[in-house]
Amino acid sequence: MANEAWNARPDRVKIGLLGGGQLGTMLLAAAIDLNLDVQAMDDDANAPAAKFNKDFIYASIRDEKAVYEAFWGKELVTIEIENVAVGALDQLERAGVLVYPQPRVLDVIKDKYLQKSFYVQHGIPTSGFRLLAQSEDFAELAKQLPFVQKLRSGGYDGKGVKVLKTTLDLAEMLPGESFAEDLVAIDKELCVIVVRGQDGALETYPVVESIYHPEANMVDYLLCPAQIKEEVAKAAAALAKKVAEALGIVGLLAVELFLDMEGNMLVNEVAPRPHNTGHHTIELNQTSQYHNHWRALLGLPLGSTKQAGLAAMVNIVGADGHNGVAKYIGLAQCLAQEGIFVHLYGKHETRPFRKMGHVTIAGDDQKELERRIAFVKATLKVEAY
Ligand code: ADP
Repeated sequence: MANEAWNARPDRVKIGLLGGGQLGTMLLAAAIDLNLDVQAMDDDANAPAAKFNKDFIYASIRDEKAVYEAFWGKELVTIEIENVAVGALDQLERAGVLVYPQPRVLDVIKDKYLQKSFYVQHGIPTSGFRLLAQSEDFAELAKQLPFVQKLRSGGYDGKGVKVLKTTLDLAEMLPGESFAEDLVAIDKELCVIVVRGQDGALETYPVVESIYHPEANMVDYLLCPAQIKEEVAKAAAALAKKVAEALGIVGLLAVELFLDMEGNMLVNEVAPRPHNTGHHTIELNQTSQYHNHWRALLGLPLGSTKQAGLAAMVNIVGADGHNGVAKYIGLAQCLAQEGIFVHLYGKHETRPFRKMGHVTIAGDDQKELERRIAFVKATLKVEAY
């Protein structure tokens, strides 16, 4: 293990990063503090990270050969998105490159059905599920309603998930390999970000809660700490640690949880990388998720995850009806306010509901926080020229 040398000169470690989206850019920003030598790679020549990374590689992160060739010669390789060429990562690991999260962990996580099976094997609570054959009988499916259909792989941000309640919904089933999951009566959707070091050290960030818009039935904003009892928060942290330990992952793991109406806690899914529920850790926590990811990967001590005050996170998405080169309305008004931190992802073009940035909002109490959230939502818009 190269740790002692790495501890003294982390800047000398040659690091490869798969993915150059907003999460990759925030990883690069944190890498500056330890003067790390990171080379990012993305399918998009104009990926957000491209202009901040002088050695940026424009190539497909899902192409086994391209990934292997680009990162052969690196000492450490990591990701900001899990949909990558895992075979190449596996080969790199065999060749002696440290790859975190480990390719075997990515294999389990990338396929949601394998992921769920892993939870069952390890005694980790999750909702019931079963594989769906391509040729399921309509009458049989109808008997099983309601259920949630999920694609085994490739889904993100709710794409690849279909809640089916009536026989009419069955006509809209998603094509592709999928499984059926019991529909959970969700009270709260929670997320715990864990970071696990090479030595097995674990830290968790305070629990995040997704607050849903009462009418739109969409996530309105994220809140941290979640509005839950202390014992529920402790149970969530313990469960998240259990998942990280069972996987043996090194680096960040975001553990998405459902708290059901009866108070049961179920693991929905995990993400082995920085997560959007941890954006606020940049401003609010002693060590951001991005900093702790690098620390974990380099074998450095993990930093404190303590949070100062309440945090919320609002996504900045493209306004409906606007397609084209983006402009930000109300940016200056937001920047002029205390407790409001704007992050723009540098995406050239806006589309309706495209994630263009996020705003972290800090407050000393819930009222102040809500006032600021309302202000941001009313003020900041992304439109096209
Ligand atoms: P993605 O990875 O695309 O975000 P998720 O598995 O997180 O997919 O599902 C997206 C959303 O669908 C969840 O946030 C939740 O609101 C809802 N959902 C997913 N699974 C279930 C379930 N078993 N029961 C009820 N709602 C669910």
